[in-house]
Amino acid sequence: MPQNITLRLLPREAADAKHYTALAARRLGISDRQIALIRVVKRSIDARQRQPWVNLSLEVYVDGEEQPAEVHFDYPSVAGKTPVVVVGSGPAGLFASLRLIELGLRPILLERGREVSARKVDIARINRGGEVDPDSNYAFGEGGAGTFSDGKLFTRSKKRGDYNRALQSLVFHGANPEILFEAHPHIGTDKLPYIIRNICRTIREAGGEVLFERRVSDLIVRNGRIEGVVCGDERIEGAAVVLATGHSARDIYYLLHERGIRLEAKPLAMGVRIEHPQELIDRIQYHQPSRGEYLPAASYSLVSQENGRGVYSFCMCPGGFIVPALTEATQSVVNGMSPSGRTSPYANSGLVTEVRLTDFAHLEPKWGVLAGLRYQEELEALARREGGDGQVAPAQRVADFVAGRASASLPATSYIPGITPSRLDQWLPSYMAEGLRMGLSTFNRRMKGFVTNEAIVVGVESRTSTPVRIPRDAEQLMHPDLEGLFPTGEGAGYAGGIISAAMDGERVAEAVRRYVK
Ligand SMILES: Cc1cc2nc3c(=O)[nH]c(=O)nc-3n(C[C@H](O)[C@H](O)[C@H](O)COP(=O)(O)OP(=O)(O)OC[C@H]3O[C@@H](n4cnc5c(N)ncnc54)[C@H](O)[C@@H]3O)c2cc1C
Repeated sequence: MPQNITLRLLPREAADAKHYTALAARRLGISDRQIALIRVVKRSIDARQRQPWVNLSLEVYVDGEEQPAEVHFDYPSVAGKTPVVVVGSGPAGLFASLRLIELGLRPILLERGREVSARKVDIARINRGGEVDPDSNYAFGEGGAGTFSDGKLFTRSKKRGDYNRALQSLVFHGANPEILFEAHPHIGTDKLPYIIRNICRTIREAGGEVLFERRVSDLIVRNGRIEGVVCGDERIEGAAVVLATGHSARDIYYLLHERGIRLEAKPLAMGVRIEHPQELIDRIQYHQPSRGEYLPAASYSLVSQENGRGVYSFCMCPGGFIVPALTEATQSVVNGMSPSGRTSPYANSGLVTEVRLTDFAHLEPKWGVLAGLRYQEELEALARREGGDGQVAPAQRVADFVAGRASASLPATSYIPGITPSRLDQWLPSYMAEGLRMGLSTFNRRMKGFVTNEAIVVGVESRTSTPVRIPRDAEQLMHPDLEGLFPTGEGAGYAGGIISAAMDGERVAEAVRRYVK
């Protein structure tokens, strides 16, 4: 059995394995030469005081002790086994496919977008203000919305075993093993494509299929049971269909609605993306003029209640970039991503308010259960009109937004297509503008200097979650009205983020295994 110890170290000491190994040996009353292996199992930063500290939890293996085995997964051949159609290659679809293989079923994974290297070209075109491919962009393509992201792997899910397994699978497919012990693990957009490609390779090598540029446009339904899907002229059949299309696939919601398949309206959250100079966030969070060589780019997580509504930061990206996460040229939608080193000089985060069903009740008579979707679409279109040509996004300095003033000019930004001054305080729905304004004032009391004209708000952060849930039975995880249809992931309303979508995909694959005879 390894010995477990916890050390509280200066950031410089925590970065020096020789130093903490010697300290661990001293604590255990042995010489450092007797230590065969020392593993960091948890690392967190305590920056509550002037001097930031790093808490390291270590597992120490002394000579002769059995060492932990490397992370390994076995994927048996499923060639010739029962096929299951999986729609969408985001984290939910990929992890559902891996689990189906482990359980002896053959996934046929269909993805409307392109493989990751072709997708990079499409994304570069969007950033240059060029054409937007509605099937290949920041949301659609190999790996889904998680490929070009910060790759934060945080979840509130209590099922620790599933969480560790999902992280281990990422490590098996090429992620840095540090994600297994970091308090707030993240992968980074420079590393994610490689890992996603490896997962797709595993699926193919086991006998599954991964087919790109296959946009599902209809369902094959016989006698109340789904038997496959239609992609253009192709009909692809399977013993069940896992629907993992994410929350940006509006055509899928419209399709299900037209086919009379039950959907449910749900509340959501929308707002803006806020961007500060990273060095300002470092200064506030670390209480020092600069973070120095050994501390990571600082982050924050803020939440408050204003006028009875939740206002909170979302998907914070230290050392990152704001990106155009739209799926049509008629929208302005922003989100954030970071490279693994979080090296950009900017810190960005979503800053959103709760949006209730009553906020879009006026659209319900015409749009019914899809009213929330319509509301989201209208805000994105409004933001596009307020922005400029070629994905130029509307923006306002933060202090001006709070004070209700126009910004005559804007500071430099990480958002490549560019920004233009706009009165977000005036054109955002009034409850949202007021909630964000009050929230910003509250956050400024907790993080002095957060409200500043060095920072900007950019419109709009509209896709934090889906406004429509695809219902499923709590036990069977199958749609109650359509046998064989298994909705999963963020688009179906059962996940929020990469790792929770991946875990939900795995759970659904297990339900499919129980269903398929
Ligand atoms: C820029 C950005 C940064 C993000 N950063 C983070 C982060 O750091 N951490 C985090 O946890 N989350 C992050 N997220 C959110 C995260 O990416 C999503 O929560 C997650 O990807 C949801 O997984 P999913 O599999 O449910 O859906 P998605 O990842 O959305 O995947 C759905 C897939 O289905 C495909 N599809 C849609 N319709 C069809 C169709 N008709 N036919 C075939 N295929 C179809 C799409 O092309 C897409 O590939 C970020 C999102 C964005 C956009």
